[in-house]
Amino acid sequence: MLVDSHCHINFPELAGDLEGVVARMRAAGVTHALCVSVSLETFPEVLAIAERFPNIYASVGVHPDHHGGGEPTVDQLAELAAHPRVIAIGETGLDYYRETGDLAWQRQRFRTHIQAARRCGKPLIIHTRQAAEDTLDILKSEGAREVGGVMHCFTESLSVAERAMAMNFCISFSGIVTFKNSRALQEVARTVPLEHTLIETDSPYLAPTPHRGKTNEPAYVRHVAEQISRIKQLDFADVAEATSANFFSVFRGKRDAT
Ligand SMILES: [Zn+2]
Ligand SMILES: [Zn+2]
Repeated sequence: MLVDSHCHINFPELAGDLEGVVARMRAAGVTHALCVSVSLETFPEVLAIAERFPNIYASVGVHPDHHGGGEPTVDQLAELAAHPRVIAIGETGLDYYRETGDLAWQRQRFRTHIQAARRCGKPLIIHTRQAAEDTLDILKSEGAREVGGVMHCFTESLSVAERAMAMNFCISFSGIVTFKNSRALQEVARTVPLEHTLIETDSPYLAPTPHRGKTNEPAYVRHVAEQISRIKQLDFADVAEATSANFFSVFRGKRDAT
C-alpha cells in the first residue's frame, strides 16, 4: 500500500485520462491520493474528482502564486472545507521565488488559511519556496501547531524540517529526492524520522527518475518510496506501510475506501 499525499490530477495534463490515472495507481499499489486545490475557481473540479473516486481526497485552498479570483476569506475556506471529501486546507504558504516585490498580500493569504484550518480543525498543506523563515514564523504566530499538517515537496534544510516537525508537521518528499543532484535533500530524507515522513508526486510536475522530464502521475509515487527505502536502508514494505499510516494519521481520512 502506498499513498500519494499531493497531486494535481485535475490539471489538463491528467484530467482527460482519470480512469487511466486511477487504474495505473491500482496497478502500482498506490491505494489513495490527495488531489490538492490551487484556486477557488478550480476547486469544483478537484471536488468532483474526489466525489467520483472514493480513494481520491480533496483539499481546498489558494496557492501562494495564484492570481485572480479575489482573496479567499476564513469563512469561505472553512465553509468549503466542511465537505466530507475535503480533508485538508491548502496548498498555502509563501513563495518568494516566483513572486517578488511587496508580498504582504501573500503573507495575509497564508494567515487566512491557517485561521480557516483552525476553525474547521483540518490540517494544512504548506508550500514554501525561498521563504522558510517567514513560513515558520507565520505558522508559529498563527498557532498552526494545533492542526498540524504537511510541509509538501520539501526542499529545505534539516533545521527547517526539525522546526516544522516540532509544530506537528510531517515532511513530504517528492520526486526531487530521486534526482542525482539532490544529495543535500537525500541527507535530509535520511535524517527525518520515518514517523514524520510522507511521500508525494506533485504530479503532473516533477516526475521521479526514471520518468524525469515526462508527465508525472500518482502511480509514480512508488519510485519516491523506493528511493526513501534506499536512502534510509529500510525495507520498501516498511516505508510503504509507515508513510501510508502517517498520511491517515495526519489527514484523518477514512482508510476503508479503495
Ligand atoms: Zn506546492
Ligand atoms: Zn502542488
